Amino acid sequence: MDLGIKGKTALVCAASKGLGRGCAEALAEAGVNLVINARGAEALTATAEHIRAAYGVTVTTVAADITTEEGRAAVLAKAEGADILVTNAGGPPPGMWSDWSRDDFIKALDSNMLAPIALMQALLPGMIARNWGRVVNITSGSVKAPIPQLGLSNAARTGLTGFVAGTARQVAPHGVTINNLLPGIHDTDRAISLDTGVAEAQGIDMAAARKQREATIPARRYGSPEEFGAACAFLCSDKAGFIVGQNLLLDGGAINATI
Ligand code: NAP
Repeated sequence: MDLGIKGKTALVCAASKGLGRGCAEALAEAGVNLVINARGAEALTATAEHIRAAYGVTVTTVAADITTEEGRAAVLAKAEGADILVTNAGGPPPGMWSDWSRDDFIKALDSNMLAPIALMQALLPGMIARNWGRVVNITSGSVKAPIPQLGLSNAARTGLTGFVAGTARQVAPHGVTINNLLPGIHDTDRAISLDTGVAEAQGIDMAAARKQREATIPARRYGSPEEFGAACAFLCSDKAGFIVGQNLLLDGGAINATI
């Protein structure tokens, strides 16, 4: 399928590895030029080199922390006029509801709610003026079904989801869509860190922790960054203009719900 976005420009945040990288690669495959970001320059440069060689698109890198105002300013300076925005950042640490302080909540809100909102506020006006735009926020399945030990994520991402629900309807008349992708477990460094926590807590090895988690997923496996990226590219495509303010769960059926 021709996604109809060849030659457009996308800002993909937190994209040197994992799901962000999956999204960047799928957009590049559709002919989209990229601005990609992560904090570590080395992995970011390597990813950019790979994408340029594989897909022949232009890739601009900005090594910066997207959750800080200075980081966003550096990224946005290179992403002015972007047609597509994919927001992403690392997830908050696991823990216990009774342990988190105000500072812990502020940090989670900054990373997983206020950073994507600030990026949308910066880029939506240009998309509206050009009468075309796509925003995809990488959130989490925790928005649909809370994950007890990820209370910081449950809270911050649900706040973002509420903001998107209202804003998506306000920008839709201008040919601009905003949707959220909700990952369940995917094969990335984040999965390794979550499995490490389980292995340590239960005194089992990593393979056993993974097997135990896979058994809870109807698809009996972890998702891949490639299939996650393909869903993102479709939502960013010209074909997806009627999909507005939706929350698409990619979890192999793990959350047991009718809709
Ligand atoms: P990952 O494999 O750990 O990759 C994270 C990427 O984001 C890296 O490129 C990292 O590079 C970059 N990054 C992290 N913090 C950043 C920051 N403050 N500013 C800029 N770049 C940053 O993680 P992932 O699995 O792709 O997860 C992406 C998001 O989806 C996370 O919020 C995660 O919580 C959520 N999620 C993941 C899963 C899963 O199973 N994988 C499930 C549900 C939700 P640097 O470290 O160099 O900055």
